[in-house]
Amino acid sequence: MVNTKNTRNSYGLYPLSVRTMPKVETPIPDEQGACLPFVGPLHGMLTLFFLLFMLLSVSMSTGCLHAQSGYRKAVQPSPLTEAQAYAAIKAALEDEWAIDNHTHIVYGAHYDERLFGYMPLAMRHAVPEQLALARELFGTDDPVEAAAIRDRKIKSEAGAYWIRHLDATRTRIALVNTMAPLPDTGGRMLWVPYATYLLFPVPAANYPRNPAGADIAKRARAWLADNAPEHGQAPADLPAYLAFVDETLAAWARDGAVGIKFIDGLTRTLRFSKVGTDEAAELYRTGQSQALGRDEFLRLQDYIARHIFLKAPEHDLTVHIHAALSSPPFLQLGENDVRHLEGVLTDPRFFRTQFVLIHGGFPLVEDAAYLSLKPHVWVDVSALAFFYPMRELVERLRIYLIYSPSSMLFGTDVSSYPSVPGGPEVQHIVISKKLREGLNRALAGLVRDDLITVEQATSLGRGILRENAERLYDFDG
Ligand SMILES: [Zn+2]
Repeated sequence: MVNTKNTRNSYGLYPLSVRTMPKVETPIPDEQGACLPFVGPLHGMLTLFFLLFMLLSVSMSTGCLHAQSGYRKAVQPSPLTEAQAYAAIKAALEDEWAIDNHTHIVYGAHYDERLFGYMPLAMRHAVPEQLALARELFGTDDPVEAAAIRDRKIKSEAGAYWIRHLDATRTRIALVNTMAPLPDTGGRMLWVPYATYLLFPVPAANYPRNPAGADIAKRARAWLADNAPEHGQAPADLPAYLAFVDETLAAWARDGAVGIKFIDGLTRTLRFSKVGTDEAAELYRTGQSQALGRDEFLRLQDYIARHIFLKAPEHDLTVHIHAALSSPPFLQLGENDVRHLEGVLTDPRFFRTQFVLIHGGFPLVEDAAYLSLKPHVWVDVSALAFFYPMRELVERLRIYLIYSPSSMLFGTDVSSYPSVPGGPEVQHIVISKKLREGLNRALAGLVRDDLITVEQATSLGRGILRENAERLYDFDG
């Protein structure tokens, strides 16, 4: 894949504050004024007295100090208020279509009030807007009835159901993270399978640190049994297994995948160490006859993961890595720290690979924003809009914007969360709207601070909604 952030020019590689000129041109100070901070105290005092004298003369001769300020206003356009900037940005971006970089929108509904107490505050109750939408879409806000009606609609209408939904939310394309085949939507929903499933070539007896890890290992091993070329058995040695990995990546790409997803921060660590081929081959051989220890198992995984990072661009696959909070109680934030990816992201072997930090590394937002300055690293803001209330959402979006707005990707992460009645597309309508609103407000804040103009804000907003993803995935504009 040749698409990097600097495909068009190198301007986008710089942080926002060094890319753009101030919105209102700063008046050029006269020679004396410009010298004031740099001259000796005596010269400064004399200059100050001179300026005061001149000011008094002018005000007396005109009889009005305000006349002067009125004159200054006439020659300098007054800056827009934040509210005016917001209104202009909102109007300009209102009808823009978006590309949703990360969803699980086809998942089944899973409403469960018993789990509310374990969820972040913003997700502890069914949002009234979601209940109203469930009534509008399915004729009821009863979660069980709505889910059943949804299932029937999806079954009978197939791709048409989803196209209607994508049109209604002005979503040009939604990337869907799943292992299951997607309904035919004429390319409006694109597939992102889990590359993590390729990291379990041998039994993972000592791998699980918790039930979530055990579950992922079990599903990955079952997937391998279904897909391995040799009657459900993993290939005999490491080179043969790597060939199987390469064939799988090629097959996924042929089946429409545009990216692959790693979720290893949930159950192990985002540190992917460098491991030599001889050591990995020996671990693979040993692992077929006896259970590897956890550390040994992880080293074998590290080797295969790095192989996939290297090969992904050959198949035009972008590498998505979950690097953020997730469901308690198993995730260890210390292991899922986005900064652990620095070793991979700074390795020149992977500079052709395009990496997307899914969920923007939150809560380590600024660290992820910093990493997204690298030409091959992108930051997806999915999940932030249902986790954070509007004020905090705007603050976080502002941080990504300041660092590298050309790296930002619009995303929702809508899924079958327990507080969403009627299924992920109900949440999708609410979250798409909220994220667009947060983006408008964050951009308006930067106009208020004279970092960008409204026109520049609108252009950046268009990039985040759609154009950055079009560039990353090589979609036609
Ligand atoms: Zn997700």
